[in-house]
Amino acid sequence: MAELLASAEAAETRPAHDGDRSGTQSAGTAPAQNPGSTARVAGVLLDIDETLVDLEGAMDRALREVSAPLLPHLGEDEWVAFCRIFTRGSDDIYDRYIAGEITFAQQRVLRAERCLAHFGSAFDSGAQAAGWLEAYETAQPSYVRAFADVMPFLDALEASGVAYGAVSNNVHDYQRAKLDTAGLQRIGVLVGIDAVGAAKPDPAIFREGLRQLGTSAGETVYIGDNPAHDVVGAAGAGIRGIWLNRRAAVLEDEMAALVRDEVSSLAEIPALLGLT
Ligand SMILES: [Mg+2]
Repeated sequence: MAELLASAEAAETRPAHDGDRSGTQSAGTAPAQNPGSTARVAGVLLDIDETLVDLEGAMDRALREVSAPLLPHLGEDEWVAFCRIFTRGSDDIYDRYIAGEITFAQQRVLRAERCLAHFGSAFDSGAQAAGWLEAYETAQPSYVRAFADVMPFLDALEASGVAYGAVSNNVHDYQRAKLDTAGLQRIGVLVGIDAVGAAKPDPAIFREGLRQLGTSAGETVYIGDNPAHDVVGAAGAGIRGIWLNRRAAVLEDEMAALVRDEVSSLAEIPALLGLT
């Protein structure tokens, strides 16, 4: 479990486009046959990061705040570039953490150093890097917010008598605090990887979500931003998976063939499920 927990912590700052990459790697996973295609939907399970909460937005805000003293002359476009290098342009550094070569804290500092170097700067000492890291670790969680379409969507589910909950590739208590910070206390069912010692796309974690929600696979859908973990993974548990593509990403053909349902906003879901 220790290895699993370490990965889960890292998932918090997984580069935002990682879902596409993971999708490519997992494209050979066979989905269940036409899961959940006809039954009335009684339950909705959701991913958390980049589905319910805007984690990249929180990362951006924290990165700019704690890095500004090091790069006082950056313009708006340059700050966007800085953040994108950190959140999407440092997969190789993150992979070194996954491989056990560096610690979670070290991968964060190394990613920051890459951003700084891009603009001709650097930490001037280990102490300065440690101070940056501490400030980032404090700031980032406080900036997590729910996406604007979340509350209306949950209202619609409640109005239709549909149960809902979250299944996340992170540990329960960390994600509980994140949902609460984002004003999502109303999401009572929350399954983390520590619930069953498994992470998406393992069917076991989805089945635990069904168990806690009290619905069957055939009458439940799963919604998430990562096609491999959230759509193909859910299908492996017999659950219809819906890809939430907030950033207009384009899938490679192999993965696209496995994603039957795609929306760009949660606002499209009630109509898709026939709830309106
Ligand atoms: Mg996600």
